[in-house]
Amino acid sequence: MKPRNNLCDSERERVLRELRRDYARNTRVPARLAAELARITPLAQTAWEEARAAGDVAAFLPWLSQMVALRREEGEAIADGGDPYDALMADYEPETDAASVAAVFDTMRPRLVALRDAVLGADTPPALEGQFDREGQLELARKLAVRFGYDMARGRIDLAVHPFSSGSGDDVRITTRVAEDDPFNCLYSTLHEVGHGAYEQGVDPAYRLSPIGRGVSMGVHESQSRIYENQLGRSRAFCHWLHGAMVETFGPLNVSDADGLYAAANRVTRGYIRTEADEVQYNLHIMLRFDLERALIHGTLAPDDLEEAWNTRFKADFGIPVDRPANGVLQDVHWSVGLFGYFPTYALGNLYAGCLHKALRADLPDLDAQLAAGDLAQATGWLREKLQRHGALRPPRATIEAACGFAPDAGPLLDYLETKFRALYRL
Ligand code: ZN
Repeated sequence: MKPRNNLCDSERERVLRELRRDYARNTRVPARLAAELARITPLAQTAWEEARAAGDVAAFLPWLSQMVALRREEGEAIADGGDPYDALMADYEPETDAASVAAVFDTMRPRLVALRDAVLGADTPPALEGQFDREGQLELARKLAVRFGYDMARGRIDLAVHPFSSGSGDDVRITTRVAEDDPFNCLYSTLHEVGHGAYEQGVDPAYRLSPIGRGVSMGVHESQSRIYENQLGRSRAFCHWLHGAMVETFGPLNVSDADGLYAAANRVTRGYIRTEADEVQYNLHIMLRFDLERALIHGTLAPDDLEEAWNTRFKADFGIPVDRPANGVLQDVHWSVGLFGYFPTYALGNLYAGCLHKALRADLPDLDAQLAAGDLAQATGWLREKLQRHGALRPPRATIEAACGFAPDAGPLLDYLETKFRALYRL
């Protein structure tokens, strides 16, 4: 199909709206404040790295206090009388307010805590163990990327310590990482980044180089990475195909069979670290950070009291005490570089992925047969057509609603998690 040259009126209207919002946001921030933020950010990040390595929260506190004060001032300037945290969050999730996000999170927490307690009270399935050849992992990761619709002619896969994706249009690159004793790390990091990359590659070429020619928000972006990685990649049906592919690549595995691989890919264990969390516990990590950072920006929590607040909340939500700051309040880079309002987009992404998965299954009744054959063409084609193609044409929630045919809420994600993990752990 030949790309269109002209945008229609509603598309042009959306371009103007995006430009107006960017302009208003940037011109409301005084030059002095923008310069001070740019000056402080690398210094604060270095201080965080050193404090984290030394386990010394006190050494990071002066930097955190400065960062909170500067970002609060920035939020107040952008909000122009509105809520400063909402204004900061809008950089990552526009046209969404924190109070409604908080209300959704509050409905999710009890069901997630109950599920986590039930799962952790059951027997944990065996982990995948052994040494897995580096080249074999990368070869399989590339195979997965192509099966999930990543266009290698318009992208490439490289290595990075913390995988990420970048670019848009005809140059969308992703990275992955390899641990020889943990092939899931490489394979699922790749699928995650492929979801981000496929979104950018999938946007209508007519939107290129315009404000609507990209993913609409971090939350909607994360819905793509999460559905590729989790709802599709960690499904029982796909794990059956993956089991065959892994045996072919690496030889016999220590897990009993394809269902053993499925259980190993979905193990739930106690842990401190957000980035290593499973599907059941991940959102609890986000809710903790969301509540604390909102309180920091609103001034109801002082930076000096942050560590104690973190540790108290962690014990309540996860059932174990934090053992050291690197496993607690110092584990994430975000606050050191002033990313307040970013964390909730990860959980919104999961929530949106839950909605998309429900709608996808309704439209593709034989999805499991396709996944078991390693055939993602219809599933990723559906996501491209319903969501990715439209870029930032609509606000985030409207983007999900247009794709799903219903307004997004937490129900589909919670139902999916309970069904999946109750079956897996025979609850
Ligand atoms: Zn991501």
